[in-house]
Amino acid sequence: SDHALDYPSSPVNMDWAAHYPAFAASSKTPEFADVGCGFGGLLVTLAPLFPDTLMLGMEIRVQVSQYVEDRIMALRATSACTNPTTPASYQNVSIVRANAMKFITNYFPKHSLSALFFLFPDPHFKVRKHKARIISPTLLAEYAYVLRPGGIIYTITDVWNLHEWMRSHMDTFPLFEPVSEEDLRAEGKGPILDAVYSSTEEGRKVERNKGEKWLACFRRVEFQR
Ligand code: SAM
Repeated sequence: SDHALDYPSSPVNMDWAAHYPAFAASSKTPEFADVGCGFGGLLVTLAPLFPDTLMLGMEIRVQVSQYVEDRIMALRATSACTNPTTPASYQNVSIVRANAMKFITNYFPKHSLSALFFLFPDPHFKVRKHKARIISPTLLAEYAYVLRPGGIIYTITDVWNLHEWMRSHMDTFPLFEPVSEEDLRAEGKGPILDAVYSSTEEGRKVERNKGEKWLACFRRVEFQR
């Protein structure tokens, strides 16, 4: 249960230096958050592409979050051995074991994130389970709070019904506006989109099974639509 989860009472109590020791002297907080990051494929793909951007994965399963922590530590250690001249390799990526549906605002200050990822979230097919879905009107208000104006929510799924659910909820939420893949690529976010499509373990599984993937992205607007 959540009682076993250690979470900060407020973002100011978060010890980011412990997560990102190479950035301890900076006042940086994470800018990218991968919610339900699973085995961490997105984080380890994006980390070298944006070496100055701090990224945090949130994962509720104990063993999976431990696996990602070990994976990051191993990557930090190997990149330090193989290329000692490269500063801070994988130093910008970290993970917390957390229930993002309950505690996301405990971690991130208001308007601190420029990207929020929901990649292949659990579908919770049954109607009575829909309240467990990671996109809902209440939670969207929290995501709007932690995202800065101009920040992007990236969602992708192989479940059409979930895609429609996420897209329609974001579409009706006044602080988000839809943004096309084409527009994001024109803004230089192509490498992020490529990673969204195919860097995660779940995304790769969908590819192996020749499944379809549906992307929906929304921009946090400054003023209500
Ligand atoms: N995003 C990853 C990927 O694409 O490979 C993992 C997808 S997996 C289907 C969904 C993940 O979300 C699982 O690892 C699950 O444990 C995690 N999860 C579900 N609810 C969560 C919550 N409330 N907070 C954090 N993680 C959650």
